[in-house]
Amino acid sequence: MKKLLFILFVIIFWSGFSQNTYLHCGKLIDTKKGVVLENKTIVVSGSKIISIENGFSLPQNENDKIIDLKNKTVMPGLIDMHVHIEHESSPKRYIEKYTLNEADVAFKSTLYAKATLQAGFTTVRDLGGSGVNIALRKAINRGDVEGPRIFTAGKSLATTGGHADPTNGMRNSLKGDPGPKEGVINSVEDAKKAVRQRYKNGADCIKITATGGVLSVAKSGTNPQFTIEEVKAICETAKDYGMHVAAHAHGDEGMQRAIIGGVKTIEHGTLMSEETMELMKKHNAYYVPTITAGKEVESKAKIKGFYPDIVVPKALAIGPQIQTTFSKAYKKGVGIAFGTDAGVFKHGDNGKEFGFMVEAGMPAIETIQSATITNAKILEMENDLGQLKEGFVADIVATDGDPTQNIKAMENIIFVMKEGVVYKKLD
Ligand SMILES: [Zn+2]
Repeated sequence: MKKLLFILFVIIFWSGFSQNTYLHCGKLIDTKKGVVLENKTIVVSGSKIISIENGFSLPQNENDKIIDLKNKTVMPGLIDMHVHIEHESSPKRYIEKYTLNEADVAFKSTLYAKATLQAGFTTVRDLGGSGVNIALRKAINRGDVEGPRIFTAGKSLATTGGHADPTNGMRNSLKGDPGPKEGVINSVEDAKKAVRQRYKNGADCIKITATGGVLSVAKSGTNPQFTIEEVKAICETAKDYGMHVAAHAHGDEGMQRAIIGGVKTIEHGTLMSEETMELMKKHNAYYVPTITAGKEVESKAKIKGFYPDIVVPKALAIGPQIQTTFSKAYKKGVGIAFGTDAGVFKHGDNGKEFGFMVEAGMPAIETIQSATITNAKILEMENDLGQLKEGFVADIVATDGDPTQNIKAMENIIFVMKEGVVYKKLD
């Protein structure tokens, strides 16, 4: 009898206080099948989706809420595989290295995080910053700051003078000799130590700069900067600690070394040859194109003084080539992971990438699949993120128009829910 009363009490208590949300969706994108479904209800309880029902179901009890998205297109929260959440490009960016304290960077980063979430990106992979990115992830997870779920590489790994050597361009007395602790390696042993140090610092994945880069104060934007042995040591050590490796790469030789060495994703991939595309397929590596960043650096390089002089010719040569390479790689059947390099351009403009991908020949529905189901798989979150399905995390976004008809709709996300909490509402 006592037990029965207890159960009754629990039921009354639960139904009185629990609150489910019923999202009435006119259109719903099934990212697994790649189709647009009509007239569905997503039932959310706490941070999870508890069911997807046909038609517009009505709430079971008085505390439940309805969100009317009957004339919207609803899809899983978007995932961007390449952002720099700490920073944003500007002519002041290069001097800020000397003027901003960590706390300054941290406060700024909260605005970028918010803009990213408001644009419908409920998850991002952050590929390099000072370490503020790790603190930001913690602050968001605690609920102190509004932003996307972050998987971060912490500080990127480079070789001496390489794309992510933090002392590039400094005067000699400031250069010092950064080592594995600072993310600069020059041997297999350094490589292992640098990865272990990232793990200790709280990184979720590893980023290497496999070739020169556009925005660093250094001459080459394309040369290989790691030996195969170094890349292998990084990837094997990362694997021991449950982390995957992302490789920034513009030049073909450095890209091949990275793929053979075992990286999971190639970022930018500007001068990727057909041979390298085949190599990517063979090694199950994904291509993260970042077309938006390519276009942005090209246009900003034309503004006098926006970048240092040494950066300008690199930006003009590399920037415009990415979209063409993406088009070839897609047609060759290379796995495509959606990623933008936000931070090189304005945080919150991440959705522009969809249009550039469609323009290059990828069907709209596939671009959305790459930003959801493919990216969730790379992050090993495929049972939690990237689909609107019973048991999945309630990361749900919506557009006014149907993006499979007009991809520009992805630049105007009008509703954002992350883990069952609404962050952007309809007017
Ligand atoms: Zn980047």
